[in-house]
Amino acid sequence: MSSLGPLKASSLYFTPLPPSHVVQPGKETHGRYMLTIPWNRVSGWGQPKIAARQDLTFDPLAGVLQYAVTCFEGMKCYKTDKGDLRLFRPNKNFDRLKRSAARLGLPHDWDNDELLELFAKLVALEAPIVPDTDGSSLYLRPTLLETSEGFGIKEDAYAAEALLYVATTLNLGQGLYPSSDGEGKGIKLDACKEYIRAWPGGTGSYKLGANYGTVNIAKKPGYAMSLWLHGQEDFISEAGGMNVWIIKQAADGFLEFVTMGLENGIVLPGVTRESIIELITDHGEGKKDFPLDGMPKKVRVVQRDIPMSEIIESLADGTMKGMFGCGTGVVVVTVGGIQYQGKQHTIPSNPLIKLLRDTVTGIQRGKVDEGRGWSFKVPEWNVEGKEGQDEERVVV
Ligand SMILES: *Cc1c(COP(=O)(O)O)cnc(C)c1O
Repeated sequence: MSSLGPLKASSLYFTPLPPSHVVQPGKETHGRYMLTIPWNRVSGWGQPKIAARQDLTFDPLAGVLQYAVTCFEGMKCYKTDKGDLRLFRPNKNFDRLKRSAARLGLPHDWDNDELLELFAKLVALEAPIVPDTDGSSLYLRPTLLETSEGFGIKEDAYAAEALLYVATTLNLGQGLYPSSDGEGKGIKLDACKEYIRAWPGGTGSYKLGANYGTVNIAKKPGYAMSLWLHGQEDFISEAGGMNVWIIKQAADGFLEFVTMGLENGIVLPGVTRESIIELITDHGEGKKDFPLDGMPKKVRVVQRDIPMSEIIESLADGTMKGMFGCGTGVVVVTVGGIQYQGKQHTIPSNPLIKLLRDTVTGIQRGKVDEGRGWSFKVPEWNVEGKEGQDEERVVV
């Protein structure tokens, strides 16, 4: 692998939008540009390009089309009140993309700093259309897939050619989560026994396209998402594309934030999940309590399996103090009810969920300094006359 060409931000090839393009802040639905970086087994990473968003073409027998050899990431670019752009813990996404790619036999040997430089340039070009209101952002969808023929019997399991690209959009889940700011009663989940999202030894902990396409049809009308179950005990794992938590009153007076552990490989290791674990744990240990004003001192995070029976029992005995989901898309959202085996269960709401949401959103938008360097400030990128000229150039 080491003799192959490394991924190099300095060889970026940039094609400005045509002179006819007029920026329409507030009206665009997608970012106008996309980043593409080809890879092949012989020469490694090819020249990164940023050019107008466009359709992709593949051989009809490409691995991505035949066997769903594709993985992705979900990230957001936020604009602060001062107008600068931020990415939230981008290296976490890059590392997770490497893990997913390795699981699929795709290349996963890039230097994260090089990739970050390219991402930063891509979003810097979209600065005029990145919204600056709370709760809005430019969504980034990095995708890595096999473009070479990937069917039948191959000599080895690895892709011969691949493409890493980043497309962006402004309309992810718009209007989907009206109660996500903690006001209303929260979203309703349908605990699904018919389709299983993930199982031990499967691919649930990787962000693979195949994990989503195979369970999309589980969603029932009237419910925001499916609550995925696994095992004889109906353990809950995740809901839709987010990690889930319950808040429980423990016998020793502590308030417990309980979420599923990662060790059985069923749950996607969410960056939002990990950030909330760190925030609550540090707060409970008195390390960095400033961003969690209003959170009780006696709190702890517990990572373990949660059977549906425990949710029902804790609702009955009053120890259930709330439930929420978290992920880049929703940030933090209250779960207000679950349908399970034909019965509706109402979950009490909890103001601490909104506190967590405001804290994470505040960090993402550069309003709350959590002291850990989680918010990456995107440098400005001044390509002279970067819009309205039809020439191509290598930018160093
Ligand atoms: C992406 C994703 C999450 C959330 O991960 P974040 O890094 O917090 O965005 C959770 N569950 C699933 C299944 C996901 O695909």
